[in-house]
Parts: sequence; C-alpha cells; structure tokens
Amino acid sequence: QSQKNQQEGDTHIQVILRCRGRSEREIQENSPGIVQIEGAKAKDLTIETTAPVSSLGTVTLAPTRTYPFDLVFGPEATQSMIYHDVVGPMLNEVLLGYNCTLFAYGQTGTGKTYTMQGDLAPTPMGNPSSHAGIIPRVLFRLFHELEKSSTDFMVKVSYIELYNEELRDLLANDATANNGAKDKGPDGGLKIFDDANKRGVFIQGVEEIAVKDSRDALALLTKGSERRQIAATKFNDHSSRSHSVLSLTVHLKEKTTMGDDLLKVGKLNLVDLAGSENIGRSGAENKRAREAGMINQSLLTLGRVINALVDKAQHVPYRESKLTRILQDSLGGRTKTCIIATISPARSNLEETLSTLDYALRAK
Ligand code: ADP
Ligand code: MG
Repeated sequence: QSQKNQQEGDTHIQVILRCRGRSEREIQENSPGIVQIEGAKAKDLTIETTAPVSSLGTVTLAPTRTYPFDLVFGPEATQSMIYHDVVGPMLNEVLLGYNCTLFAYGQTGTGKTYTMQGDLAPTPMGNPSSHAGIIPRVLFRLFHELEKSSTDFMVKVSYIELYNEELRDLLANDATANNGAKDKGPDGGLKIFDDANKRGVFIQGVEEIAVKDSRDALALLTKGSERRQIAATKFNDHSSRSHSVLSLTVHLKEKTTMGDDLLKVGKLNLVDLAGSENIGRSGAENKRAREAGMINQSLLTLGRVINALVDKAQHVPYRESKLTRILQDSLGGRTKTCIIATISPARSNLEETLSTLDYALRAK
C-alpha cells in the first residue's frame, strides 16, 4: 500500500504557521513577544532566539532567525482568513473525490483547538460565528455547495479520539462506547483492520453517521466534544495528550454527459493533535519524557511518516502507530495534506516554539 501511494505522485505537504497574540498569563509574566510577522498574512517569520554571546563578545549563533513557510498567519489573522486560504481549496479537492487531511500541530495552549474547532455554536441566523474555527466553517460551506448543485449527495461523519494508542468513538452512545462488545480490542478500544481488497484500512464498529445539513452535523459534534471534555476532567493530562480525528466522507452521484451515473467519494480528515511538548527538537524523543511514559507514539510516528513521504523514502512507517494507520489512505499519493503549526509569541515558550518550527519545516 505504501509503495502504491508513492507511485501515484509527488507528495506535497503544505505547511502553515499560526502565531496567536500574547496570552493574559504571558503578559502578566512580562514575557516579551519575540516573534515578528509582517501583517496578518506573510510567507515567513523572524524569531529572536536570545543566542548565547561568548566571553570575547562574539555572537556564536545568529540572534534572529527567519523561517519560511507556505503561509504565516500572525495574531491579527482571523478565523475566516484561515478558512479561506487554507481549507477552501481542500474542500474543492474533496468535492472532486479526493482525500485530504489537515493537522493542527503545536504546544498545548497555542491554539490548535481554537483553530480547528473554535466556537461551534452558530449565530441566530445560522451562520458560523466570528470565532468559529475550521470545522463549523467547512460544514457550513460543504452543505452550501452541495445544496446549490443538482448532484445527489450523502455526507457521513465519524469522530474518534486516540489516547495512549487506544481508540474511542466520540459519536457512539455510552452503552456502545463502554461495554465489552466483540468489536472492541482487549484494551476496550476500537480495533483497526486492513482489508486489502475492498475498504482499505477501517475501524471496526465505528459510528459513521449520515448528516443532512450543517446544523445536524454540528449538533452531533458538539455532543462528541462534550464527551471528550468529560474524559479530560477525569484525567488531567487527557486533553493535551489525546488526538481527535473528525472524518467527513462525501458521496456524490453525478450524471455524465452520456446519462450514466458517476460515483465519487471524497474524504476530509480534520485532526487536532496531542500537544507537541514532549517531542524534543528535530522530533527526537525526549529521554526523560520517554522514561515517564509520556512519549506519544502516534505523534512521533506521524513525524516519521511525513518525513518519509517528503523524502520519497522506500518505506513509510504507517503501521507504527494507530493514527498513521487510520489515516494511511489519506496520506501520500494523490491527496492534499496540510499542517497548521501553532505557536506562542512569548519568550517563555522559546524552546517549544523552536521545536515546533523545526518539526514543521522538516515537513516541507
Ligand atoms: P491548544 O488546543 O493548542 O491547547 P487552545 O486552542 O485551547 O490551545 O487555545 C488556548 C487558549 O488561547 C484558548 O483560550 C483560546 O481561545 C486562545 N486562543 C488561541 N489561539 C487564539 C487566537 N488566534 N486568537 C484568539 N484566541 C486564541
Ligand atoms: Mg486543544
């Protein structure tokens, strides 16, 4: 499968950076802003690294460094700008029948969930609010496009969470989610299967719910997010160490000029990744974090898979984590992949910010 994916074409991964403004806490701590971005939208950013100065007074490292990306969004960038520049083009691909995946990567507290989800509740008029993130906007646009075309369509949603390499269905009602049904693995999580002929990689027993409009879809996702929240209060590291994967599958039935039916299936995966704070610079495993059992196998493997795709390596280690297994059909080949890396502008987060920039740059 991995070889087949690669033969199908060049993998280009779009890498986008988003830097939020200083938080209340960063202002209170007097941690200065060290990230410079020209305007709301740019092609690179500059960071002051507080490089060490030797005793002779010569600077050993450039004190400021510039990092190039496909797009860089500064604190003034709105949710709507991110949607239009990043997600709109992906949605068009999905409507043509391709698979696309968008990841939010970054240190906890830098805006992954704000970017992906933001405010889910629509305005009284039924539009996304100004703080609505990618998910509510993409649902709104998707149904808008589908309803104005004459194509027959069906949209299905699945929403899962991955914590400690265990899969949980955020859309299953509690009875199905928690009993020891036979489609659950020994750890109680859902199991992943490979079906080389028909379905590719699939999660057995996962709910794939047909939704009729964006309101319907959002109501479902709001329930799923609340479920995620409940788990987060039970285990306090849960929300920063778990990944959520929302998959929208769009089935289209078009008519050819000959009057035949043409079926197209496109898929959009929207992934809110675990916090990157235990993945050291250059994706190397942080030794202390590994000893404490805090290394996130899926986050680490995702980095390796992306590097292998970008380097056109012979072997792509999809099978080494659950996240990369379930996304295998949507990474590499004729698919569009995009990473939005989120960072803090404050000096107090410099180490983590440099680590995020390194990870993101290696995907280019
Ligand atoms: P993460 O999911 O990466 O841990 P969050 O998305 O929860 O981070 O963001 C942390 C806090 O910062 C939240 O209160 C969020 O609303 C706020 N925030 C993040 N990014 C922005 C932004 N670009 N503009 C305004 N507020 C933001
Ligand atoms: Mg979050």
